[in-house]
Amino acid sequence: MNADILKMPVTQLKGISSTRAKLFAKLEIYTVYDLLNFFPRMYVNRGEIREVLDFSGEGKALFALEVTKPLVSARIKSKKTGRAMTVQRFSAADNTGTVKITFFNSEFLKNTFITGRKFLFYGELERTARGISMTSPEYEPYYETSGYSSIEPVYPLTSGITKKLISSCVRQALDNYKESIEDGLEADIIKRNGFMPYYEALCEVHFPSDENKLKNARKRLAFEELYNFYLKMLFLSDKSRKGRAYRVNYPDMKKFVSELPFTLTYPQKRAIQDILTDISMSSNPEESAKRKEKYAPPARRLVQGDVGSGKTVVACAALYACAKSSYQALLMAPTGILARQHYESIGKLLSKFGIRTVLLVGGMKASEKRETLSLIESGEAQIVIGTHALIEENVKFKNLALAITDEQHRFGVMQRKALEDKSEQDLKPHTVVMSATPIPRTLALIMYCDLDISIIDAMPVGRKPVKTYAVGTDMRSRVYKFIASQAEEGKQSYIVCPLAQESEETLMAGYEMKAAKEYCDSLKNTPLGKLNTVYIHGKMKQQEKDEIMERFANGDIDVLVSTTVIEVGVNNPNATVMLVENAERFGLSQLHQLRGRVGRGEDNAYCILMSPLLKKSKPDSTFAQRIDTLCKSSDGFRIAEKDLEIRGPGDFFGRRQSGEFRFRIADISSDMKLLLLAKEEAERTVSKYSNSK
Ligand code: ADP
Ligand code: MG
Repeated sequence: MNADILKMPVTQLKGISSTRAKLFAKLEIYTVYDLLNFFPRMYVNRGEIREVLDFSGEGKALFALEVTKPLVSARIKSKKTGRAMTVQRFSAADNTGTVKITFFNSEFLKNTFITGRKFLFYGELERTARGISMTSPEYEPYYETSGYSSIEPVYPLTSGITKKLISSCVRQALDNYKESIEDGLEADIIKRNGFMPYYEALCEVHFPSDENKLKNARKRLAFEELYNFYLKMLFLSDKSRKGRAYRVNYPDMKKFVSELPFTLTYPQKRAIQDILTDISMSSNPEESAKRKEKYAPPARRLVQGDVGSGKTVVACAALYACAKSSYQALLMAPTGILARQHYESIGKLLSKFGIRTVLLVGGMKASEKRETLSLIESGEAQIVIGTHALIEENVKFKNLALAITDEQHRFGVMQRKALEDKSEQDLKPHTVVMSATPIPRTLALIMYCDLDISIIDAMPVGRKPVKTYAVGTDMRSRVYKFIASQAEEGKQSYIVCPLAQESEETLMAGYEMKAAKEYCDSLKNTPLGKLNTVYIHGKMKQQEKDEIMERFANGDIDVLVSTTVIEVGVNNPNATVMLVENAERFGLSQLHQLRGRVGRGEDNAYCILMSPLLKKSKPDSTFAQRIDTLCKSSDGFRIAEKDLEIRGPGDFFGRRQSGEFRFRIADISSDMKLLLLAKEEAERTVSKYSNSK
């Protein structure tokens, strides 16, 4: 599209005053370009034109009627509010019958509905003894010669802006700027894929002529959007890959493996091999080994594996390799408690090889922190484990070869970038991100399109699946008794509530919704009353949260009542029960994550999903079906696919990151083929571009 249109303010169009422009701004429409790219949210098929006499169906239908009696306006008092209002009535007819049509507070319509004019009306017919009538139908002028479209776009509107206004402004823009609306896709891409020309596609999405053309128009525009997205990402990642990283020697893994208390699973071995190959490579592995090359292209890899699939040991192997080559490596975790757990388990293992590991988290004593920082700077600390504190500017490394982030989805892309700046001079560390949130392949293609992916898709042997039950709230006292009996055996439990504290939202919901604080208080008079119950929620200070989690991990707390803060991978093998209240408020993937908190030890573990929708007295079939997937399957990827189907992509990206992946027309949850096509074409373009340089 021509650059001028991009910038032309919408006030250039007839009918958009500066006051109206403010309303348009609410829809993020500032320029003519924005307007043309303000796509309908959905379409309604109004069906064929019906005849008044014949039509006997329910709901709205489309009629072509000629005004037969002029519009009369009258003042009345509203029955509901008692306020004065006006009512407009007129009659219109087709060959088979007459309809009395009513509008409210619309005196201006007397200039529209003039006797003899024809309109399409879309509304619901009411038949009473006094005749046939219709109230406030949608309408548009009807010209028999030019035909009509039965497909009606529906825009995401704001008050003060009608669909009519949008349509007339879009029409104007399409007509006035036809010459300036250029096709942005290269001709050979259009030809190769048989795409509809840009201008035609724009016309079709706003004024569809038939289903098929509309489908092709949307496909073309969605393709372009995805294609541009990939181009941007590829150029970005190309830039960041241009740097150099230290080349790490491929270590002898036998020693490492012999110190493990278990045998690695096949996907664990494969993931380790992927990473080690990445970081020990140069553009020519054989040559570089001979010449002992010092640098390698920076690797960027995502390791995806379900909760409990054993990602830590994979990270550990990579850290080991770096230290063996006398380089530093870091592992960043999203919370202090998790960092500490990693520090303990990884530090212990690596110390067997004489490798020194340090911990850097928030809230350390100043002297302790100073000492740690100097160990990192001098290189004495080979492995550094910590939280966000690692990103801070005063953390300087001697020779950082690798940065691993655990539970990646908790960190933004910006933080990923900040980590990349931790190596000295022009060097970049290799980066590995580990995610426990299995995401469907379509989404992985978008979110991590600049990363290579290793998937850990098998669990360590002997792992017992967590027994999962979906129950109604009428089972609560039985569940409490069960939790109490587990506590007697020394086992611990989690109870997760959807909210931290009771609020308006709780009351608005119109049904019981549990809040962690009040819930915990209310346990006093239940079978759990005698146990040590503590609540924790996300808004507490990090240090307070860490302390509570520490106590829970040490076994001081029997029942931990919480919001979803515990979702992030804390390891407590002694916890055997996960009770989720208001399970209907969570996505399947999220429930699966929560379930992963238990069953980390030898004992049988249980996940109980409780919901008022599952009460025996009122079976809700859709929810029961949805949750059934979870009871039957422990495969995170399958569950994620199902979740995407049901809830759309928003939940996967999380609020913070979702802005980066917002698309105007492409529906990334459904169109895998188009995603792959856009990626392929973008890669083709990039390679053409870089070859010709
Ligand atoms: P996650 O992928 O959720 O980070 P962890 O790395 O915390 O999983 O591993 C979960 C548990 O499984 C840990 O106690 C770990 O020691 C154990 N584990 C990891 N790999 C294996 C294996 N191959 N065989 C048996 N147990 C394993
Ligand atoms: Mg983990």
